[in-house]
Amino acid sequence: MLNPTPVLHDSSNPFLDMLSRYERAAEILNLEEGVRTFLKTPMRQHIVSIPIQMDDGTIKVFEGYRVIHNDVLGPGKGGIRYAMDVSLDEVKALAAWMTWKCAVVNVPFGGAKGGIICDPRQLTKTELEKITRRYTANMINVFGPDSDIPAPDMGTNEQVMAWIVDTYSMHKHNTVSGVVTGKPLILGGSLGRKEATGRGVMDVTLAAMERLNMDPMKSTVAVQGFGNVGSISAKLLYDQGCQVVAISDVTGAYYNSKGIDIYAALKHSENNKGLLEGLKDAEKISNDELLTLKVDVLVPAAREDQITEKNASKIRAKIIAEGANGPTTAAADPILNDLGIIVIPDILANAGGVTVSYFEWVQNRQGYFWSLERVNRRLDRAMRSAFNTVYETSQKHNESLRIGAYILAIDKVATALKLRGIYG
Ligand code: GLU
Repeated sequence: MLNPTPVLHDSSNPFLDMLSRYERAAEILNLEEGVRTFLKTPMRQHIVSIPIQMDDGTIKVFEGYRVIHNDVLGPGKGGIRYAMDVSLDEVKALAAWMTWKCAVVNVPFGGAKGGIICDPRQLTKTELEKITRRYTANMINVFGPDSDIPAPDMGTNEQVMAWIVDTYSMHKHNTVSGVVTGKPLILGGSLGRKEATGRGVMDVTLAAMERLNMDPMKSTVAVQGFGNVGSISAKLLYDQGCQVVAISDVTGAYYNSKGIDIYAALKHSENNKGLLEGLKDAEKISNDELLTLKVDVLVPAAREDQITEKNASKIRAKIIAEGANGPTTAAADPILNDLGIIVIPDILANAGGVTVSYFEWVQNRQGYFWSLERVNRRLDRAMRSAFNTVYETSQKHNESLRIGAYILAIDKVATALKLRGIYG
């Protein structure tokens, strides 16, 4: 039985969710008050307006954010999100999660995140390019290969990264490929980066299965979300012999008790504007039904706040591997703990992406590119080792893997902070 986790608030604010886990881990670490305040406070928060002339000639003004939560371990690192519900609090939470995530996988970066309130599906390619370039120009003194390195996140992709490289390079009068990661290969991207987050989800899921004596060949999986993380996680777990019984996207959830052919689903989505609608050999179910299926592994790889105090008691999976950032609210944590469900927390489970981002940045600095085998081997090793360290930390403190991961991460950043000291 794990130590009971107090419910600190009924949350719908991801930053408060982050803080409630943080406070618990800081308490266990007996972190002194000043350091505790320092580490939970974002170092820099930038809010910019992005005026754009739309294709129809009208002018629209978008709002963009970039938060550097902490740079004690290295330059800020984290994706940029384009979505209508982006908010400063969300970006602050995501930036803090990047700080802890990088520390958990031993990547020498701090945490940052950016976002623009916009719906990329409603914008033309020209409009998206203009928004990206103007945002980058506004952030010209923030971004940099030694200060803050963006990457893709929800609603952004390789093309967006290519525009950032170009805009940044134009201002600096030379090509600076290391200013972002998740770039197209031809512009200095890394082999294996696109699959990295899903691959990391697979690595930690297999590591957890090993600890629980579960056989992947006899295990069932449900994956929520069929974007980059969800679809690759589903494919790689399927390749390991798992039976993926349910997948989902914005069009709904699809279920087959005998298993879904993930390669057929990938093909279907590719030929169907990236959507699963109309998937054959699967029954349509609701999103909530997918989350509460009796499966061995549940991979929430869609959005924040999917497993809440409202549905947590109905979850029947043995393992939850958080492919998304923040899919479980803080109020749901104790409910899942009481049910004995092993939750592999986001800051560990989806850290494969930033790990290969680090490899990409290293390759850019080396000017020498690695083989896919080398990238994957090093990623697998990093994820397995992070899982084991988090597992041992959580056992030592009789806490969940989530609090174990926070303890590990906060301890590293606090140690570095104390060594650096406070300037001023
Ligand atoms: N957006 C990804 C994440 O949340 C990747 C960040 C990165 O590679 O910098 O982890």
